[in-house]
Formats: sequence, C-alpha cells, structure tokens
Amino acid sequence: MADEVRYDQRGRIALITLNRPEYANAQNSAMTYALDAAFTRAVNDDQVAVLVLAGAGKHFCAGHDIGTPERDVDKSFDRQAVLWWDHVGRAGADARYAREMEVYLGMCRRWREIPKPAIAMVHGACIAGGLMLAWVCDLIVASDDATFKDPVIDFGICGVEFFNHPWELGIRKAKEFLFTADEITAQEAAAHGMVNRVVPRADLEAAVLTLAEKIAAKPAFALKATKQALNHVQDVQGRRNAQMHVFSLHHLLHAHNELVYGMPMDPNGLPEAVRDKVLARVARAREAASKKAAE
Ligand code: ZN
Repeated sequence: MADEVRYDQRGRIALITLNRPEYANAQNSAMTYALDAAFTRAVNDDQVAVLVLAGAGKHFCAGHDIGTPERDVDKSFDRQAVLWWDHVGRAGADARYAREMEVYLGMCRRWREIPKPAIAMVHGACIAGGLMLAWVCDLIVASDDATFKDPVIDFGICGVEFFNHPWELGIRKAKEFLFTADEITAQEAAAHGMVNRVVPRADLEAAVLTLAEKIAAKPAFALKATKQALNHVQDVQGRRNAQMHVFSLHHLLHAHNELVYGMPMDPNGLPEAVRDKVLARVARAREAASKKAAE
C-alpha cells in the first residue's frame, strides 16, 4: 500500500490513517487512491468489523492538495475507482469534471456506502476536503481541540464537492457555516449534530477504539443493513439528488473563475502575498497563450 495512507489492525478494528503529516494530510490523488485501497482491504477482510479513519500528525486533514510538491492533478492512476473515463489528456471542464467526479464526489459516495460501520477520529483542523472524509464516516468522534471549516466561498466556490453540509449541520447552521467561512469548534459541531462525541485530546484514540469495539461485537449483517437503512433515509429525502445539483453549480463556478481569473478559484481569497504571485503567474500564462495564438 502507498505511504500516503497507513493501515493497522487492532483486533476487529481497521485503523486507517491519512499519512502526509508534513502537509497536514492534504489529499492528493495518490492519497485518495491509497485510501480507496485501504477501505477495500478492510471491507474484504472478514476479521474487520469496524473501520476507523484518523489523521497522522497535528491535524486530521487540511483539505485537497492545492500546492504541495506532490500535487498530482495531471497524473493518471492505474485504476479508476468510480468512472470509466479519465481526466488526463482532456481539456477544460471535461478534464476538471471527470477528475472531481472520480476522486472527490465519486469516491466519497463510494466510501459512504462501505458495508461496515466507519468512525472518523478527528483532531486538530478538519478543513474543506477534510470535512468530506469525516462526513463519509457513520460516526464522528472529535477531540476538544478539533475545529471544522469550509472556506471555499472565499475562493469563489459554493462549498466542497461532496456537498453534505445541510445534512450534517441543518440548513441554518449550514448557511452560516458556508456564508461566513468561519471555523466551528468540536463542541459547536456536536451541538448541531455533526459530531457524535467530544473527548479530551489525550483520550481520543482510546474513546474511539472502545466505541468501535462495542459496535464490532454486534451482528455484522444487521450492522450493514442498519447503515444502509439510515443512508437510504437521507437519500430518499433528496440528499443524493441535491448533492448532484450542487456538484453542477460547483463546476459552473470553477468554469466562471477560469473565464474571469484564468484559474479555477477566485485568487482574491488567497493571502495578499501569495495572491499577487498567483495573479502575476496567471497574467504571464495568458500573455504566453495569446502570443502563441497570434503566431
Ligand atoms: Zn472543485
């Protein structure tokens, strides 16, 4: 298995750990495919009853990789987990839609349907794409230092690709969470129903493993059916359709930003020092492209 994700077995629990601590576990494609492989391994192993998803280092997950040296958006992976087609070698929205449908929305949908209970063990920051990973789990246990935030409105986007905010927080809190881009604490997230339990940081792993062991002792088929029943309730209430609609809006905004700023995000959301560099780079790229077109 790739280094981006660690896999440990503790009795009947598979402990799956996001493992890019030097980048606060920012998700590149290598990580999402490694995560898919780890989840597949846990599902296929009859000894595993419950999955736990954790983050190595100081934070659970800082979101999608938008700038580490191992950013790999243009790379193709051997196996498509969700789609038949790949984004590599495609142009414009064709490429972006395929990539985000495969590694973001598609994989998250697939993981939400894992036929075994999954618990997210969240500490530190859980930002944007990091929320998606916590949300696909059935239960979220957070340490008292955990914080949650989806700041993508600052970058001209209407929330992350796996748009589950209303089902996690309720409509009013979801609006406040998205409109303000403010961070919420683990306690606030628990008060709104997004987090099941908040425990002291030092007790987090023990609390999660105790909970996982309790669940692991229940009949496996009944657990699977109960998970499917509750997920199905959300889906017949319209969750899945609404999410698909938002995914289209999300891509409308990516396309809008591309037309206006020459990049999929509104750079005005970036810190000033970074923003000026990014804008200068986009201007140079545009100039080079128009020179090339004139030749
Ligand atoms: Zn996107």
